[in-house]
Amino acid sequence: MVFAGGISGVGIWLLRRLDSAARARVGAEEAPEAAAVVEPLDGEELVVDGISKAFGGNQALKDVSLVAEPGQVTALIGPNGSGKTTLLNMISGFYKADSGEVRLGGDSIQGKNPADVARAGISRTFQTPNVPEKLTVLEVVESGYYAAEKASILSSVLRLPKYWRVKRAATAEADRVLSLVGLDAQRHELADSLPLGNRRLLEVARCLVSSPRVLLLDEVASGLDEDELEVLERLIVRLRDAGQTVVLVEHNFQLVLRLADDIYVLAQGQVMAHGDSHEIEHNERVRAEYLGIHQEIEVEEGSDV
Ligand code: ADP
Ligand code: MG
Repeated sequence: MVFAGGISGVGIWLLRRLDSAARARVGAEEAPEAAAVVEPLDGEELVVDGISKAFGGNQALKDVSLVAEPGQVTALIGPNGSGKTTLLNMISGFYKADSGEVRLGGDSIQGKNPADVARAGISRTFQTPNVPEKLTVLEVVESGYYAAEKASILSSVLRLPKYWRVKRAATAEADRVLSLVGLDAQRHELADSLPLGNRRLLEVARCLVSSPRVLLLDEVASGLDEDELEVLERLIVRLRDAGQTVVLVEHNFQLVLRLADDIYVLAQGQVMAHGDSHEIEHNERVRAEYLGIHQEIEVEEGSDV
């Protein structure tokens, strides 16, 4: 009896040990996600106030207004040619507006050139990925840091102490955002050899390394497979939850419905509808327009959305 009791005592102890070991393992598996929790981000409010822009006789944007808040994903959707990229170009200083104003945290950024807009805290990806050749993943992200830091050419050429200080900070920051987007294992690979999904994550990392106040994403999800999409989606959610202001230009309606807190629908350069996912999903006009777009996507990409 004592022996049996002993065995069962040992048995219970063993079971408990196994149980807690299993719990620890599960915990360890979850750890990378938990470890990658983003530190609080200082998102800033972005206001587009009555922007109009014509290219010759083509009125690309007509009196477009929107507000993107920190800690929210603000989606911008609409058919091809409706003006989404043009609006991002206006915000990031590539084009001058015919009328209207863009404000960041209450301050007008009207008339600033792209480099100054970036330094003011607005960072963007481009619809066509433009990852430079012959640079490693780490170097590409570091370059984003230098662009934001204005490291003087003189101090770089002369390798002054400031250069080394900035270089160390650039590497540290680049490493931080690479682990955030899950590309740390690829840091020494050539950037242009990465598969599309990782190239997109790299572009987001290059934006994040400058600690932007506003992140503009132009169709970052297009062409990604389901797994890649999931990684990107989780990243956007984490950035949003950490307080980032995220403006998402996106074709994939289902992804937008899942991610966006606020949705603006553009048609022929004008805001045709604005609301949360539920409102936009049930908006008759949007449904009609998007059914058209879905058929287009099915033909082009075999999507079954
Ligand atoms: P979307 O990103 O929604 O597909 P775009 O913003 O790229 O749409 O285009 C909106 C309209 O503006 C289109 O008619 C396009 O031809 C026009 N457009 C955009 N950029 C230029 C430009 N640099 N010069 C002339 N027309 C342009
Ligand atoms: Mg576009």
